Amino acid sequence: MSKYQTDSLFEAEQADKTACHHIIRVAFETAADREFDYLVPDEIWPVRVGQRVEAPFGKKDKLQVGFCVAVEGEGQGDKGTKAQRPKKAFKLKTIEKVLDKEPLLDAELMELARWISSYYVCPLGQVLAAMVPGAVKKGAGVRTQRCIYLAISTSGIEETIQQLRGKKQKQIVSFLQSRGAFSTETTLGLQEVLQALGCTNQPVKKLAEKQIIKIVGKTILKSLPAIPKGMAIKPEEDIVLNEYQQKALTFFKEKIDSKQFSVTLLHGVTDSGKTELYTRAIELVLKKGRGAIVLLPEIALTAQTVQRFSARFEKIAVMHSGLTASQRNAQWQKIKAGQANVVIGARSAVFAPLPGIGLIIVDEEHEPSYKQDTVPRYNGRDVAIKRAQLANAHCILGSATPSLETLSNCQSKKYFNLVRLPKRVMDLPMPEMKLVDLRSSWGTQKGINLISEPLAERLKEVLAKKEQAILLLNRRGYSNFVFCPSCKHTLHCQNCDTTLTFHKSKTFSGEQMPTITGKHLRHGYAICHYCLSQTLVPEKCPVCGAGFAMIGLGSQRLEEELARKFPEARTSRVDSDSMRGKDYYRVLRDFSDGRIDILAGTQMLAKGLHFPNVTLVGIISADTSLYLPDFRANERTFQLISQVAGRAGRSAKKGTVFVQTFLPNQPAIQFAISGDFGGFVKEELKHRKACNLPPFWRLAAIVMRDRNFDKLEAACKKMREKIDQITERDGLVRRLVRHSFSEDGSFSEGGLDVVVRGPMPAVISRIQRFHRMQIIIQAPQAETIQQLFTSLRATRPVRPKVMVAIDIDPVNLL
Ligand code: ADP
Ligand code: ZN
Repeated sequence: MSKYQTDSLFEAEQADKTACHHIIRVAFETAADREFDYLVPDEIWPVRVGQRVEAPFGKKDKLQVGFCVAVEGEGQGDKGTKAQRPKKAFKLKTIEKVLDKEPLLDAELMELARWISSYYVCPLGQVLAAMVPGAVKKGAGVRTQRCIYLAISTSGIEETIQQLRGKKQKQIVSFLQSRGAFSTETTLGLQEVLQALGCTNQPVKKLAEKQIIKIVGKTILKSLPAIPKGMAIKPEEDIVLNEYQQKALTFFKEKIDSKQFSVTLLHGVTDSGKTELYTRAIELVLKKGRGAIVLLPEIALTAQTVQRFSARFEKIAVMHSGLTASQRNAQWQKIKAGQANVVIGARSAVFAPLPGIGLIIVDEEHEPSYKQDTVPRYNGRDVAIKRAQLANAHCILGSATPSLETLSNCQSKKYFNLVRLPKRVMDLPMPEMKLVDLRSSWGTQKGINLISEPLAERLKEVLAKKEQAILLLNRRGYSNFVFCPSCKHTLHCQNCDTTLTFHKSKTFSGEQMPTITGKHLRHGYAICHYCLSQTLVPEKCPVCGAGFAMIGLGSQRLEEELARKFPEARTSRVDSDSMRGKDYYRVLRDFSDGRIDILAGTQMLAKGLHFPNVTLVGIISADTSLYLPDFRANERTFQLISQVAGRAGRSAKKGTVFVQTFLPNQPAIQFAISGDFGGFVKEELKHRKACNLPPFWRLAAIVMRDRNFDKLEAACKKMREKIDQITERDGLVRRLVRHSFSEDGSFSEGGLDVVVRGPMPAVISRIQRFHRMQIIIQAPQAETIQQLFTSLRATRPVRPKVMVAIDIDPVNLL
């Protein structure tokens, strides 16, 4: 891949005439997956790595913004980053302007960017652009303030004051003297001075004319509080760590003191004192003069955690979506200026410009929300691990229900450790768990009821007692499963012990759910989220011959049902699709203050259950496995129920959790209700192993989309051909073999290197008029996938041209 522009064939001698003695390499935010060399005129030199520049780009030389990623003669160590004068010097284009005073990213973050670009198959320029918040790039909230200082030598001040005629002028000079404003570093705000002395601009102007004082413009940032208000917390008394916590802390101390990279999974049930341990570990790191980053799922940032951390640490910066642009910029600048040593934030806080990191904590490491679903499609947890490695820092992953990937890393990777907190700190009773079998209420009630009769009964009682309730619904309304209302039969996969998920075929458009008649069913497929096999849905139930039904549950439908059944109750709905940060915080506050009786929403609410007056939680449908067409569905189901069980009942009032399900015998639901994490993991791993899925194998998805289906299909075929060519050329053995693992988990001789599946319709085969198809790549080693994509990147894009998204380690296959 040539890194040099070849669109002009003039020799370089000409370039020298314009006094451009420097060459830098630039990565643009455009989709161009390469870097370009540019000349820098002397008058804007120096340019440093990590600064943004504006430069003419493309055939039309339109000015584009890009990051300087290398400077000629300043090697970054690894190959490909050094900007060098090309041997056969072509005329390079010239940088127009440097946009930042200081580099936005340091060497460590640059290296992290290169890793993300390579691992997640994303152009470097796009990665860099995503690492710096938009608010920072725009300079949100930045104002220029006029400041003044004394421009005469200190020894001459008294004399000057005596010589001055105006009383106000004298006052100003004395004032500046008394405050020590003698240089550009120690200026005073002009307004501040005028106000203190009660005078106009006039005397200042006079003094400036006489060159006794100087006026300078200084950029200042509005300093804004970033800690969400409300939900005040009581200061914590001196907590004495229990035996398990003490052991864990000793372990962390050893790791932190070693100044070597390592990772620890802190596996502890909710309320086992994990957060308390985080703060203690941070204290250790701060004592060593290093800093810490704490990542939380976006949603958890509203809860007490932020306040708990802010109460504990003085120099803390917060980054979450509830901040305004200026707040966000202020927080970032604070970190950059070295005024923070603890950063707490959501996924993207992993890019905080914090130097000298000694510890990175990822709370709720199993959370799918750590995965970004737009480019760069990184997983915040995995980037955190990489950053810790680059910084020689320790990384703590905390969870009550760790992901299977992390559990497996603990067994297979040398630098992974496992620490357990087996007990709740305070012996709170677990809430009462009630399973509601939705199949039995089906048919006895008219229409589709999201709120079963037992749940409705309890809801009435709760409202009568002026207590509160939370109703959780699955993520979105598009998901369906196929179920016979007369004999309760559900469609199962022939290869796996899973329920098939219905999804609409490309011919079926519109948002409306198909109803019970058999006619519509021909327009859909049933897909197994384990082995990805798909079948047409039969028109009649194969067991009893009656029709099939499809159930679609949506949060909107729930809201309507609540309004119908509980017209008096004050209800509110929260879901990630419809809510932006600030509204979300407002609703939570209203609920916390008792202005809302019933809060309904997606499972994002499961993390906010810190409300003492909540005595009822209803999981409208625990069958995530049915609704989420993904092999991690069982894991999500288990996590959701465990989370709710752990969170509810946090006060003296006893709580009840209603778990509504169509599949009361499903292992994930059973294990979750009995709180058997080990049992669940064992069961789930069996399936994963049999189907070559994570954590045993690695996964990548290529999702392609276009409005024209035929075009899309042609492009997908080309993509598949290309992949096949690469795997053949690179000697990767492709075989569609399943169950290839022997008992001990090692895979059989003969080297099954990579499995390529598809193209096939994506689980959601059409979004916003775009048809979607996917190719899934599975390999036992991450390196194999990397190798394949490196080769793929070096080739030309497939024709016909369609949108291509590459998702490495996908978290949801949608
Ligand atoms: P987790 O993060 O695992 O849910 P926390 O650290 O939030 O657990 O602890 C739960 C509650 O118990 C908090 O209110 C915390 O202040 C308190 N706590 C933590 N450790 C102790 C301890 N050793 N003794 C008493 N209270 C504790
Ligand atoms: Zn299957």
